[in-house]
Amino acid sequence: MYQVLLYTEFIVSIVILVLSLILFRYKISRPIQYIQYAFFCMFLLNIGYWIEIQCTDLDAAMVAVKIEYCGSVYISTLMMFVVTEYLHVSLKPVIKWVMLSIDSLILLGVLTYEKHDLFFSAVGYEESGLYPHVVLESGILRHFFTYYTNFINLFMLLILTYYFIRKFRDRDRVPVLFLVDMYLPFFAVVFHFFGIMETVDLSPIFIGAAGVGVFAFLKNDMLFQIVDVATGKVIDNMQDAFIVMDSKMKLLELNNSAKLMFPELAGYDEKPVIVYECSEVLRKIINERPKDVILIGDRYYMAKFSSILNNNRLEGYYIHFSDRTEWKHYTDDLIQRSIDAENESEAKSNLLVNTSHDIRTPINAIIGMNELILRKTDDEEIIEHASDVERAGKYLLSLVNNILDISKIGAGKMHIIDVDYDMTSLLDEVIGLGKITANEKNLQFNINVDSEIPDKLHGDEVRIKQILNNIISNAVKYTEKGQVDMNVSLVEKDEFFAAIRFEIKDTGIGIKEEDMPKILESFERVDENRNYNVQGTGLGMPIITSLLEMMNSKLYIESVYTKGSNFHFVLKQGVAGSSVVGDYNKRNIKDNGKKRNYKCSFSAPDARVLVVDDNRLNMVVLNNLLKLSGINIDNVFSGEACIEAVKENTYHVILLDYMMPGMDGIETLKQLKTMEGNKSAGAYVIALTANVVSGVESMYKTAGFDDYLAKPIEYRKLETMLIKALPSELVIMNS
Ligand code: ADP
Repeated sequence: MYQVLLYTEFIVSIVILVLSLILFRYKISRPIQYIQYAFFCMFLLNIGYWIEIQCTDLDAAMVAVKIEYCGSVYISTLMMFVVTEYLHVSLKPVIKWVMLSIDSLILLGVLTYEKHDLFFSAVGYEESGLYPHVVLESGILRHFFTYYTNFINLFMLLILTYYFIRKFRDRDRVPVLFLVDMYLPFFAVVFHFFGIMETVDLSPIFIGAAGVGVFAFLKNDMLFQIVDVATGKVIDNMQDAFIVMDSKMKLLELNNSAKLMFPELAGYDEKPVIVYECSEVLRKIINERPKDVILIGDRYYMAKFSSILNNNRLEGYYIHFSDRTEWKHYTDDLIQRSIDAENESEAKSNLLVNTSHDIRTPINAIIGMNELILRKTDDEEIIEHASDVERAGKYLLSLVNNILDISKIGAGKMHIIDVDYDMTSLLDEVIGLGKITANEKNLQFNINVDSEIPDKLHGDEVRIKQILNNIISNAVKYTEKGQVDMNVSLVEKDEFFAAIRFEIKDTGIGIKEEDMPKILESFERVDENRNYNVQGTGLGMPIITSLLEMMNSKLYIESVYTKGSNFHFVLKQGVAGSSVVGDYNKRNIKDNGKKRNYKCSFSAPDARVLVVDDNRLNMVVLNNLLKLSGINIDNVFSGEACIEAVKENTYHVILLDYMMPGMDGIETLKQLKTMEGNKSAGAYVIALTANVVSGVESMYKTAGFDDYLAKPIEYRKLETMLIKALPSELVIMNS
């Protein structure tokens, strides 16, 4: 029996020593360090006991006893540290130091037992029993040691048991063997308590065996998993910063990056640190939860404040800072580039708009002058040339207008402006123009308009005309012989709305199926070889589709190559009155195209008109147009000059250019209305403008103008307006 005990003690000692050495390999975390210290203490306890049972006299045995106590006093404390680390219960450093100091004091008591009877009240030696052994009577300190260590052990076992029960309830895997293993040393106490094996102290073996169990668990189960430790290492050394707090915002842990970012949090392991009392930045993050990156030092971080929940129980919080400096620089750069690009594109489109505007002014003058020539001459050759100039001028104008529209659409500045309008006058204008161009090419232009279509409608009249004119002019342009048919039908109608279908069919060249998608793209012209002699830019279709889209409609194209095309769309318009278009097909559409040898329908030799325009060419055109009626005309070139002129003269009508350098039309009008000594206070003021979009009428009226005239000025319109504006007693109608 004695031999068994001897060998067992020796083996346990050696095993514990070896295990403690093996742990060196894992010496990477605090818990493992604690275990290692505990193993070394277990080794001292067992090797001491092994020596003790071989001693043959009291003195030698007492040296062995001292060796035993060198280890045993610390074992419970160290195991307590291990367990608390395992359960992530942070023991305050001060508690740890107090416990280790108590152990050391006890050890001091043992080592100096000869000098007092605090630890051993009596020391004896007995030859009887399993082996000759010392007999030790406990002094007060030894009693304290027994109760103290057993209290620690019990306390440790209770919290471990509580923890495992909770784990079990949460259906987590419970390492039962580990728990049993931790209870092992208690068996020795129980044996001792019941007087079993009185002379043999089994506690070193049991404690050693418990140590081996802990090691086995360490290796096979997950007490301090290497992964956890490794994760801890990774987190500690990563560039992202982590701060972990308990549910009361007390700082528990922070990694190295966080330590560098927030030096004010240092010393958290010595005294409690409440995170948001210590740092202004952290307080802001906790209160405001910023969604954007924040600047800390010279780097940008995305800060994520999150709760740590365990089975819906709030355990604490963490803040994760991910370094987004590179990303921020990258996105800032991208944003800056896109702003630059936007500015550049805006600058380009402004240039386009401005130059288009500048181009339009001389074109208007050319068309106007040409009109004068057409009106004054009877010479067929001159009429033919002037007609060519007119056609080219109008084409140039439509081109500039298209460029302007496309740039407006691109910049998102194209708007649909709905006004009340008459369907019959819209059709008059569109069909009138269509007939002229069709006649010129000897094409038939057939119309079929549904009589039930409401006449008074609400929509963007100008844009609808633009769409129809464009489709009709294309139909004529791309048809060499045959006809162009226009059908306007009512799809449905109620009190408030009418859906009207517009269809333009031609017997022209048609479009190849594969070219169909292309024609809706800007500047795309298809079948260029065939269309070489046909003027065009490829801007019409994209403008039409965009405008229709803005009006919640869609252009449909059906076409058979070499046979003809059919363009149709349905527009939903507001109904603004009860009258209907009626039997439109029988109406005689006037040829409002050419104004050759035009004779003025009235004269007003006593009327006085003031023309205000900064453009001399426009002025000449207007003067020539007005001259036919014998009106007295004064010209001024600026708003300021207009103000001076009305102080001197009484005018019946003032034609006021809208866009002028210095005082523009609106400002001049304002002054005219408010100034003192205006001899023309009762004059009818007409705005002259190149801006022809729907709604301008109401815009000019709101500004205080009596009416407006679009450039290039159509004489017939000017004439009608003047007849309306001049005092009737001054107007003599020509028969
Ligand atoms: P363009 O100024 O060239 O006429 P559009 O955008 O109006 O530009 O039309 C784009 C292209 O679609 C034209 O170049 C032409 O090839 C084709 N196209 C348009 N309408 C017709 C049509 N009625 N018949 C045949 N081809 C057409």
